Amino acid sequence: LNAGQTQTLDAACIFCNIVGNRIPCHRVYEDDAVLAFLDIGPLTRGHVLVIPKSHHATLMDLPAEVAGQIAERLPKLSRAVLKATGASGVHLLVNNGKAAQQAVGHVHFHLIPRSPGDGFKIPWEAGTVADAEGLRAAIHAAIE
Ligand code: 5GP
Ligand code: ZN
Repeated sequence: LNAGQTQTLDAACIFCNIVGNRIPCHRVYEDDAVLAFLDIGPLTRGHVLVIPKSHHATLMDLPAEVAGQIAERLPKLSRAVLKATGASGVHLLVNNGKAAQQAVGHVHFHLIPRSPGDGFKIPWEAGTVADAEGLRAAIHAAIE
């Protein structure tokens, strides 16, 4: 790390190594806080990952300031992905934790462009809510 660099980097983290140019990637956007690059295993054409340059494992670990830096850039990055690919829709997806299929332990926001007939599908079998009031109260009370 340079003296002026305050980013948290984890030498064992694949995305930190991408940030640090030790592992190549196809960069589509970069600034001091955020990097966006092509996913190596795209679910659809134009699948992009948006990451904070500093190392944080999951969304739950993100300082509000870093979350804000990511969120601020998502609209323009989404517009660019749609414009460049000709897609007409896009999923924003964040897998957090093993149970949620997170494979890389550096939080990343998937932008997955969608076009009619692209063949990609997220299974969406809606359930029903039991004890909505108890659940609402529990979540509400847990917010710090
Ligand atoms: P997760 O399941 O953790 O949300 O997804 C990790 C994503 O990172 C996957 O979509 C995978 O294709 C992508 N990925 C893993 N390793 C690399 C890599 O070295 N380079 C790039 N560009 N993408 C990667
Ligand atoms: Zn990292």
